[in-house]
Amino acid sequence: MIKIIKCTFCNGTGKDPFDLLSAISKCIVCNGTGRIDVEEPVKKCVFCSETGRNPLGSRISCIVCGGKGYNHCEGNKNCVQCKGTGKSSDGLPCTKCGGKGMI
Ligand SMILES: [Zn+2]
Ligand SMILES: [Zn+2]
Ligand SMILES: [Zn+2]
Repeated sequence: MIKIIKCTFCNGTGKDPFDLLSAISKCIVCNGTGRIDVEEPVKKCVFCSETGRNPLGSRISCIVCGGKGYNHCEGNKNCVQCKGTGKSSDGLPCTKCGGKGMI
């Protein structure tokens, strides 16, 4: 099952939210469609708090969800290593769950 979601990164506008290249450049996550698809089961991305933005700063997409704000994740238990936050102590994605927070 594929779930279609409004693109988190551009909020469904299809435009690059940061105007990195120009005001009319396409969103890099949804390629300008304003919609993204994620394979079920879908879980909110804990690493970027569902924003699609990289929490480490800089104007790039989240390295865990690729800017979608959601992840395909089969897990249903909080990761013991990061306690469900998806982050390791250095701020990078947890090595056990890959930043998804669940395993
Ligand atoms: Zn988009
Ligand atoms: Zn994310
Ligand atoms: Zn983890």
